[in-house]
Amino acid sequence: MKPASFEYVTARTVEEAVRALADSEGEGKCLAGGQSLVPLMNFRLARPPLLVDLGQVDELRQLRHDDDGSLVVGALVTHREVAGSPLIAERVPLLAEAAREVGHAAIRNRGTIGGSFAHADPVAELPCVGLTLDAEIVAAGPHRRRTIAAADFFQGPFTTALAADEVLVEIRFPASGAERSGWAFCELARRRGDLAVVGVAAQLERRGQRLSARIGLAGVAGRPVRAVAAEAGLSGATPDAASFRAAGEAVAASLAPPSDIHGSAALRRRVASVLTERALERAARRLEAA
Ligand SMILES: Cc1cc2nc3c(=O)[nH]c(=O)nc-3n(C[C@H](O)[C@H](O)[C@H](O)COP(=O)(O)OP(=O)(O)OC[C@H]3O[C@@H](n4cnc5c(N)ncnc54)[C@H](O)[C@@H]3O)c2cc1C
Repeated sequence: MKPASFEYVTARTVEEAVRALADSEGEGKCLAGGQSLVPLMNFRLARPPLLVDLGQVDELRQLRHDDDGSLVVGALVTHREVAGSPLIAERVPLLAEAAREVGHAAIRNRGTIGGSFAHADPVAELPCVGLTLDAEIVAAGPHRRRTIAAADFFQGPFTTALAADEVLVEIRFPASGAERSGWAFCELARRRGDLAVVGVAAQLERRGQRLSARIGLAGVAGRPVRAVAAEAGLSGATPDAASFRAAGEAVAASLAPPSDIHGSAALRRRVASVLTERALERAARRLEAA
């Protein structure tokens, strides 16, 4: 199928993009990598009358760290760049590992982190990592820029806190402050490159003698979620096989996942539990080696 007809404008600045969206009275859509939006348009599941192409907006390609140690990733940074960036590997290796799981090489070459966050697929890897690491999303609207915590940004399936006339500018990953950390992203997909059925992001952090854990889950609810009970159970615990198994069991007990053609609720609960244990084991090995 081909898309319904639409107007097309190229923005050169964030402000131009915001103005074009505002002029379309909330009907226009940003075009980033096009890897989600264009298929939706081709199937006529989306019929935006206006596309605002962000491809020429240099500000959205930034990748830097700020003085406070946070990593700033511009909306147009591609999955491939996230996966291969030495800066991201050093500062937020969990994000790089998750990006390697996104789709196929062709998708990673064009798809962007901003597009992934704005699209908010409940099984997407990068939003799950954003929630796990307490990322902040910077959005530009007609009157101001605002910062939205990841916990408030993802509101439901394909639904975010972005207003129709806002552009996602960048995502900030705060410095963890941990002396040492270990991380892992594990997922189950039916075939390599398919969207995940369930994904798990885990990060173990050590401050002095104290251990803390961050665990995020994709594919078990309408949006990414934190495994709060499992995190609490690991706080101050000895990082060993028994505590990781208990964390997996706590995850299974806390979930009420959806059933769909990709997997039943029971399968998702079981897979989330197993992948949590597995991700924590891999994160612990990296913590040991750090
Ligand atoms: C075969 C296939 C496999 C895939 N596998 C995976 C996978 O395993 N994991 C995964 O996460 N994704 C997967 N995807 C989706 C892919 O990763 C997309 O790249 C991503 O979801 C959207 O990024 P994009 O840059 O292509 O955004 P686009 O398709 O251009 O846009 C997506 C949505 O976000 C909005 N948007 C984009 N950028 C901005 C911005 N800066 N500000 C405001 N709104 C914005 C658009 O208006 C649109 O609504 C797959 C896609 C395909 C076709």
